[in-house]
Amino acid sequence: MTTARTPLMQEQRNRTASQILRCLLRNGPQGRKRLTAATGRSSTTVTKVINELLITGAVVESTPTPPRGAGRPEVPVELSPDRVVVGIHLYFNRITVSVHTLRGEELASVVHRQPLSADDPTKDFTSTVAGAAEIANELLAGVPGTPVGIGVATGGGWQGGDQTGANQWRIQEIEQILTPRMSAPVTVDTNVHALALEQHWWEHIDGDVLTLFVGRSIGIAHMRHDALQLGRFGRGGSIDHLIVPGATQPCSCGQCGCVEASCGNFALHSAAVRQGLLPPETPLLIMSGSPEERLPALEPLYLERALHLGRVLPAVIRMYEPELTIIRAAMNEAEWEACAGTALDRYRTITGTDTRIDSHTITSWPRASAALALDAWLNQPLGS
Ligand SMILES: [Zn+2]
Repeated sequence: MTTARTPLMQEQRNRTASQILRCLLRNGPQGRKRLTAATGRSSTTVTKVINELLITGAVVESTPTPPRGAGRPEVPVELSPDRVVVGIHLYFNRITVSVHTLRGEELASVVHRQPLSADDPTKDFTSTVAGAAEIANELLAGVPGTPVGIGVATGGGWQGGDQTGANQWRIQEIEQILTPRMSAPVTVDTNVHALALEQHWWEHIDGDVLTLFVGRSIGIAHMRHDALQLGRFGRGGSIDHLIVPGATQPCSCGQCGCVEASCGNFALHSAAVRQGLLPPETPLLIMSGSPEERLPALEPLYLERALHLGRVLPAVIRMYEPELTIIRAAMNEAEWEACAGTALDRYRTITGTDTRIDSHTITSWPRASAALALDAWLNQPLGS
């Protein structure tokens, strides 16, 4: 006789499954005994949940290690090598998609360059996002493996040519368009959340970590151990309208000196146009890219931005007091020294103590996007 599972039972099974998968992701193949110890659940519960994960294909049994003493060898389980996660990154001039193993290794990737809306008015928002689904499904068809999730990261205002500075977070819309078109659950979130999860799951940056992403808008993500502390769907984590000490540039919100008005890519673009360094029709995209790709004439603006960031950072760090703050931005060495030097000095002045700040470059946007899918799957591996 089978009994129907209550939502509470399902939640508990998901929690145990989640603990098992996290343990396998961190430590590689493990025997049932060690997994039982790691979860703190009874061995009966752990065995049942492992059996369920074996049936769903999330884990597989691997080669037994020869026993040291007498007795049968224990058969370890490991993450299934043929489960994959897909990352889609939506940017205003390109869609990038990649497929990864559960450990983050890239199996395939594709870059689709096209203006998403500005230069092609026939392409509306829905057909553009649906196009991303097509690209992802085509890529998936050529890769062995079953997806456990599709992660989509996007920044504010990606759908433009629109240089009004207004950030459009159309995250829920994207989720609604993609969900019926994909064969696995879709998780859409902001660029900074994707970067924070990628660092955590695939680059082993553990503990209490604050991540700051500098692009068109400036966002933060706070990871404490395995959990993102700020809300999903791009809510929480924007510091666009905090005031940078000493900054005076008017902001779209009516204040002066906001982070957005002094540090965002749009702010830099406006400043370059104002100072006659760029013709007004230059696309905003010119502000993105690596330090090597930049126009040398714009260097002083980037350096000033680094100083602004350094001035506002200590107040942000004080709010969370993380063990480590990581800046994800395209900065050269001079900018990094200006930013970190200013931030560390000011933090010491305010608190009398030191803090840790580090910088990491961004290597693959779709990989960060795929980490959103991995995290969503790890949180609910047996479904709802
Ligand atoms: Zn503002």
